[in-house]
Amino acid sequence: MRAEGITEEDLFRSLEGFRGRDIPHSRIFSSMCTVPHPVALRAHALFAETNLGDPGLFPGTAALEALLVQRLGALFHHEAACGYATSGGTESNIQALRAAKVLHGRTGGRINVVVPASAHFSFQKACDLLSLEMREVPLDAEFRMDVESAAGMVDGDTCCIVAVAGTTEYGMVDPVPALAALARQEDVPLHVDAAFGGLVIPFLSDPLPFDFEVPGVMSIAVDPHKMGMSTIPAGCLLFKEHKMFSALAVETPYLSVKQEFTLSGTRPGGPVVGALAVLEYFGMEGMQDVIRGCMENTRRIIEGMETFGVMRAVTPDVNVATFAAAKVPGPWRVSTTRNGHLRVVLMPHVHRGMVEAFLRDMGDLHA
Ligand code: PLP
Repeated sequence: MRAEGITEEDLFRSLEGFRGRDIPHSRIFSSMCTVPHPVALRAHALFAETNLGDPGLFPGTAALEALLVQRLGALFHHEAACGYATSGGTESNIQALRAAKVLHGRTGGRINVVVPASAHFSFQKACDLLSLEMREVPLDAEFRMDVESAAGMVDGDTCCIVAVAGTTEYGMVDPVPALAALARQEDVPLHVDAAFGGLVIPFLSDPLPFDFEVPGVMSIAVDPHKMGMSTIPAGCLLFKEHKMFSALAVETPYLSVKQEFTLSGTRPGGPVVGALAVLEYFGMEGMQDVIRGCMENTRRIIEGMETFGVMRAVTPDVNVATFAAAKVPGPWRVSTTRNGHLRVVLMPHVHRGMVEAFLRDMGDLHA
């Protein structure tokens, strides 16, 4: 600590200096987060001092969290879904597996989870924390989970099968109906990690099935702080049935409520209301417009890159474009998949002008 405080002016001059070192979003093609929408920022500021960890003190904020769960449940074809606002996909995935483990009848062996090889690294954290064996299913030629291989890995010690709707690296949607059928046959829940795709797929003109409409899908992770343009941190975990949700309950003797279902104790209301604000502000039609723009930019960047001979790795289901390894001009921030493909995420802040400028620079480099 400083012995004496500094003036507000000096403080903010210093903070702005640090902020200036961050990469501006106008150069970021590598992130699944984006610039929060102004209504999210406004709602966040209005609820900045609220704590959803003690909802009895903030019943208005808690009602908005319940409305967010209801809105997302309805979007995912199950208005009666239950759940809560998490800090993001990592927490949602940990908690989904925790619920599945609690509900799994005890067997002799080590309990396991069957996940696609494309699963986000949050599942490694979840399995480590919950002492679960993680069985990784190979992918098919389009980077989707191979159902036959998955069937060969499920056994009596499996507590959950995981599918991804909008994979982090390639933007693919796993074959959820076939995996859900397998899950039902094996009497285990299917958890769908739709952290990224959950706020893309429902707004596409021809959406792939991934949500509660598919029997066997028992939980879904979705992140408003990704394609929902909320402030960070805003995730959501939804369960089809209260039985799974209540498997997460612990007693909370000194709070305004008797039980808590969340992983964090103290939880910010600001981003949760920010997430709801964006959905309310846009509605279905507004979100469809946003997603249409992101998908058009995805198609445009693929077409543009291929004219320089930088070919796509796969045609994505959502707005993540991947390419054969290639040099990228300096100022642009793109990422690389574990297979060495170039990866570009066409988030809402990546407008057409940015795509064209990137393609021009790529063209100069590859001419
Ligand atoms: N699941 C998927 C499919 C993701 O793409 C990500 C992050 O990119 C996560 C989970 C983890 O989300 P978070 O970083 O919000 O914890």
